[in-house]
Amino acid sequence: MSFQNPVFIPGPTNMPEAVRLACYMPTIDHRAPIFGGILHPCLDGVRKVLKSDDAHIFIFPATGTGGWETALTNTLSAGDKVLVARNGMFSHRWIDMCQRHGLDVQIVEAPWGHGIPTDQYADILAADSTHQIKAVLATHNETATGVKSDIAAVRGAMDACDHPAMLFVDGVSSIGSMDFQFDGWGVDVAVTGSQKGFMLPAGLAIVGFSDKAMAAGESAALPRTFFDVRDMEKGYANNAFPYTPPVGLMNGLKLSLEMLLEEGMDNVIARHTRIANGVRLAVAAWGMELCAASPDLYSDTVSAIRTPEGFDATDIVTRADEVYGVAFGVGLGDVAGKVFRIGHLGSLTDVMMLSGLATAEMCMVDLGLDVKLGSGVAAAQEYYRSTPAKR
Ligand SMILES: *Cc1c(COP(=O)(O)O)cnc(C)c1O
Repeated sequence: MSFQNPVFIPGPTNMPEAVRLACYMPTIDHRAPIFGGILHPCLDGVRKVLKSDDAHIFIFPATGTGGWETALTNTLSAGDKVLVARNGMFSHRWIDMCQRHGLDVQIVEAPWGHGIPTDQYADILAADSTHQIKAVLATHNETATGVKSDIAAVRGAMDACDHPAMLFVDGVSSIGSMDFQFDGWGVDVAVTGSQKGFMLPAGLAIVGFSDKAMAAGESAALPRTFFDVRDMEKGYANNAFPYTPPVGLMNGLKLSLEMLLEEGMDNVIARHTRIANGVRLAVAAWGMELCAASPDLYSDTVSAIRTPEGFDATDIVTRADEVYGVAFGVGLGDVAGKVFRIGHLGSLTDVMMLSGLATAEMCMVDLGLDVKLGSGVAAAQEYYRSTPAKR
């Protein structure tokens, strides 16, 4: 096994060497003040990345899935109604978690490849005159289909009828890579993890809570212990966790936040858009289409590419791994075998992306698909050289 090639999966993402080294540190006493020098820059940095002035930030030793659970258990009680769309594997799994927690889940089914149907949200919310819906859940970026939903429009649907529900947003594959506005969109809970935009290994669930979401915790009756944000908040006030913090990962997060903020979030977002545009031009040059149904839905962090009817898209992923030592993402759930995914988020340059596109082309040609070697690479090259990255 070789570790020389970058990965092109939508998380975990490539780690900058400096971030990797920052995770690798000697043991410290996590109850000594030195830990505060890691903790507080992490909390402040995450708040900036979320574009919030005063969100309550919490970091748990968990993954994005633990972040989902943090959102639900700290704000809701069994039987509470939540509104959520299912348009891919990740929204599906969050729905499953809601159901297992005994919530009353109103599901809006949307075709995979489509975004959150905000018109339907608007109708449902307007009809809910007695305000039974306590929370509206939204997956900002469906990593399974490469579809970005319009969170501002979800907030708009809520505001249009003055609905008091909370807005929970899964930003696991968007935060730190795509535009995300905690305050601007009126988000009550934002959920992410360490292994996507933050360029770290998996192991941290990172969440932001609004004052409203914190207040909901006072009456929320779902059981919670490990993920109780009130215990976390008390710990943070003393530079500590209620249990042992994952110090090395947090030291890595401190550095990755410094890197993102030094590049500037606007530049980080523009870099992801540029790299994604190159990938999309390559896909078009291959004569293929994205799973995402229209350009407004295109994700800047992952592209799910439909392969011709009768062809198993997973073969591309297998061949890339076995022959070229490169990782792409397989199709999940409803689109398994129909799409393969190119992750293009995190620590990535034009040059790295071109190598990924070149590898995908070799695999497709090896497997007999009607693709010309170099066609997608050339399309991306033309675009990258005419829109040089800001350095
Ligand atoms: C990766 C991902 C998750 C799950 O995160 P884990 O860290 O694997 O628990 C949730 N939602 C989205 C949109 C994701 O991309």
